[in-house]
Amino acid sequence: MNNIKTLTEYAVIGGGPAAICAIAKLYSYGIPGNKIIWVDPQFKVGDFGTKLSTGSSVPGNTTVASYQKVNNAIYTAIPACVPTVEQKIKFEITVLSPNTTCSLRVATQPLQHITETLRKLVYSIKGIVHAVYTTKDGIRLDIKTNDIISNVMVKRVILAIGASPKTIKLPDYITIIDPYTVFVKSELKQYLDKNPNITTVAVIGSSHSAALATMHLVQAGIHVKQFMNKE
Ligand SMILES: Cc1cc2nc3c(=O)[nH]c(=O)nc-3n(C[C@H](O)[C@H](O)[C@H](O)COP(=O)(O)OP(=O)(O)OC[C@H]3O[C@@H](n4cnc5c(N)ncnc54)[C@H](O)[C@@H]3O)c2cc1C
Repeated sequence: MNNIKTLTEYAVIGGGPAAICAIAKLYSYGIPGNKIIWVDPQFKVGDFGTKLSTGSSVPGNTTVASYQKVNNAIYTAIPACVPTVEQKIKFEITVLSPNTTCSLRVATQPLQHITETLRKLVYSIKGIVHAVYTTKDGIRLDIKTNDIISNVMVKRVILAIGASPKTIKLPDYITIIDPYTVFVKSELKQYLDKNPNITTVAVIGSSHSAALATMHLVQAGIHVKQFMNKE
């Protein structure tokens, strides 16, 4: 990527649901696509389309109706994002009842379609924003793409780079297992094969993802204690 010398109006950093909604919002305020730079290393709908869609996928706790409300709002703001009948049929969410929930992989499909359309409307860059500086001429972003660092100048930045999970202080003798290992059965099996001393695991949390973790652990023959803050 060459350095973009002109000062662009907006940069949206991140390609998850928050960034997709930010771009739709900019459009609905009449900001043209050539005034928006969009940066993400993969453009796979952030955690939804990557970590949370791996394996059998994490079951979501959001209703189909809520996802469709967001998708429809984006279609209204940007008609180019409306899927064709053939595309819509391929979205598994289309045939689900509005009051049910679905896996995050299923929720991702329309957002992936929206992402691909939006990438054609704005200036999209596959890369990681390495550094952000304020200068007298605007905000400078250093973007790393395939080991090459380029820079762009923008007036405003929308940071939609996700969040870190909450953690709690645990005694040093307790091993913490990455939830993304437990969410994918094959990865959990590999992990337990390498750590045969693990026989009991505490799952802290009560939502769908905690239930998935508990189910995979029990199926792997692990004794599970689940802690939740509600009945
Ligand atoms: C186990 C689990 C279950 C969940 N279940 C649900 C659910 O049922 N329903 C629901 O609505 N939500 C659910 N969530 C929450 C949901 O995943 C997040 O709210 C959502 O992914 C947040 O979207 P985001 O766009 O803010 O961030 P993310 O999805 O984290 O996306 C951030 C993006 O920014 C990119 N990025 C980061 N740094 C840079 C950088 N320097 N330069 C360029 N790009 C960068 C990342 O690569 C990524 O693509 C769940 C989360 C977890 C962990």
